[in-house]
Amino acid sequence: MNVNDSESVAALLDAVGHTRADNENDADVVIINTCSVRGKAEDKALGKAGLLCAAKREQPLVVGIMGCMAQRLGEGIFERIPKLGFIVGARRHGSIPGILARIAAGERGIAEIGEAGEIVDVPHAHLDGGHAAFVTILLGCNRRCAYCIVPDVRGPEHSRAALEVLEEVRTLAAAGIREVTLLGQSVMNYGRTNRVWFDGSAGTNFTEPFPRLLEAVAGVEGIERIRFTSAHPSGCSDELVRAVRDIPQIAPHLHLPVQSGSDRILKVMRRGYTRADYLNAVVRLKAARADFSLTSDVIVGFPGESEAEFEQTRTLMEEAEFDNAFIFKYSPRPGTPAAEMEDSVSEEEKMRRNQVLLADQDRRGQRLNDLWVGRTVEVLADGPSLRNPARWSGRSPQNKIVVFENTGQVAKGELVMVKIDRAAPQTLYGKRC
Ligand code: SF4
Repeated sequence: MNVNDSESVAALLDAVGHTRADNENDADVVIINTCSVRGKAEDKALGKAGLLCAAKREQPLVVGIMGCMAQRLGEGIFERIPKLGFIVGARRHGSIPGILARIAAGERGIAEIGEAGEIVDVPHAHLDGGHAAFVTILLGCNRRCAYCIVPDVRGPEHSRAALEVLEEVRTLAAAGIREVTLLGQSVMNYGRTNRVWFDGSAGTNFTEPFPRLLEAVAGVEGIERIRFTSAHPSGCSDELVRAVRDIPQIAPHLHLPVQSGSDRILKVMRRGYTRADYLNAVVRLKAARADFSLTSDVIVGFPGESEAEFEQTRTLMEEAEFDNAFIFKYSPRPGTPAAEMEDSVSEEEKMRRNQVLLADQDRRGQRLNDLWVGRTVEVLADGPSLRNPARWSGRSPQNKIVVFENTGQVAKGELVMVKIDRAAPQTLYGKRC
C-alpha cells in the first residue's frame, strides 16, 4: 500500500512539472513515506529524516514525511525535527503538490494531517511506462486486531465505487499494464461496509461484491494477471473460491496472513478466526487451483505466547505449506489493546523463535521450490538485476521470483517461458525456452 501511495505522489508531482532525481544527493526535495506497523520502521524513518535535515548543502533540502507515522505522531514530529519541511497524514498525500508550491513561495513547517476517522479518498495517479500496477479498492480497516495501529492511522474501512475502479483498470490496460494488484487492508471486505455497485451490473447480489469485482476486472481487455492483497480467512467464501478456480487471470497465489497457529493467541489478537478456520480456507483454495502458492505473515512473541503456543505456529506453517512467510517479532504499538498487556516474552526469546521459524521456512521454501526444477513457468519480466544486467528477474503466476538470462530479446512487461534448472528457498533460476 505504501509503494502504491509513493507512486501516486510521484505521478502527481510529474504531472505538475517536477522531475525525479536519481538519488537523494541530487534531490531538492525528499519525501519519506512511513509505516507505523512496527516501532523499528518508525525509528528508521525519524532517523533518516533527522540526518537529511542536518546535512550541510548549498541549497537547503526540503524534507517531508507522509504516511502512517505522520498521521500517528502529527505535528509532534516538528518538535523532534524542527527543520522538517512538511508532514502529511495517511490520506492527505494528494495535497503534496500544493504544499511544495507553498514551500517554493517561502513557507516552512506545513502540517496537513486531517482526522484519522474521516473518509477522504486518496489520489489514484499512476506512473507512466510500467507493466504492473496497484489499484486501491478499499481504504482503512474496521477489524481492530489487538496489536495493530492501522485502523487508527488509516481510518475506517471504505470501498471505492466499482465503476470507478474498473475505469482505472481500463485506463491502466490501455497504457500497457498487464498485471493489476487490487489493494486493501482487508481486501476481501470490499463492498461490505458501503455499497459499491450503483448501476445494477452485478444484478441484485450485493452480498459478494469482491468476487463480482474480480469477474469484472478479468473482463478488461489486456489484463492478464490479477492479484489481490491483503486477504483474511473470513473472505474465503465459496464464491471467492469459485472465482479463484474459474477466472484464469487470477494468479494462483494468495498472501493470507495467519499471525499465530494457537487458538488462544488468535483470540487474544482478535483475529476473528481459529486455526481450523484458517487451515480450512487453505485446503479449499489449494483444491481450487493446481500449484496454488501461499504466503503469510507471522508474529512471534505476542504477549503471553508460551512455548507450546509457539510450537502450534510452527506446525501450522508446515501444515499450510507456506511458500514464503514474513516473520516479525512482536513490538507493542502505543494506543493498541495489546500494548496494555505485559510484553512477557523476552527479546532474546523472540529472537530465538524468529530464527527457528526462519530456518523452518528456508527448508520448506527449498523443498517446495525444488518441485519446480525441470518445469517451465510463465514469467512476467520485471527487468535486470542490479548486479548483473544480463540476468533478469520476473514473477511466476505463483509470485515466485524467477531469475533468467536475457541477452537483449526480452523487454520489461513481456511474458516469457522459462525452464527452471535450479532452486533456492526464495528464488527459481532458469533459461528461456
Ligand atoms: S486486519 Fe487487523 S492487522 Fe490487518 S490492518 Fe486490519 S486491524 Fe491491522
